Amino acid sequence: MASIFTKIVNGEIPSYKIAETEDYYAFLDINPLAAGHTLCIPKKEVDYIFDLDDDTLAGLHLFAKKVAKALETCLPCKRVGVLVIGTEVPHAHIHLIPFQHEAQMAITSIKASISKERMAEIAQQVSTQYETMNT
Ligand code: 5GP
Repeated sequence: MASIFTKIVNGEIPSYKIAETEDYYAFLDINPLAAGHTLCIPKKEVDYIFDLDDDTLAGLHLFAKKVAKALETCLPCKRVGVLVIGTEVPHAHIHLIPFQHEAQMAITSIKASISKERMAEIAQQVSTQYETMNT
């Protein structure tokens, strides 16, 4: 059965899209630790990130770097932090978290409350910035 993230890539489940290439997709986490919390995934559905073939794994990190650069331009943050956990959704992904306080990097910490309108605004702003930086 297709993962939730494959359904997102296929447009069967809506997402706040940030960026897309032939092989990768980035979208806002629905339950964010901070404004702009983004998930970067390979379209290829593999559960565990370290089971990805080398080219896909390297490409995923290079894609995440470009997304992080767009995020840090658009959102006030100390840095864009990187997390890999992968116990909730069995489809490899990298969390990018534009944090202002290190405590926001703890996956168990209290989630940020961000309205749908603000999520849409962030997605629009960051995706435009991503396009500007990569075309
Ligand atoms: P992990 O598998 O790394 O522990 O966490 C999976 C992440 O995916 C969580 O932060 C969770 O909020 C996010 N997530 C789970 N289901 C959905 C969904 O349907 N849409 C979006 N945008 N994010 C999701």
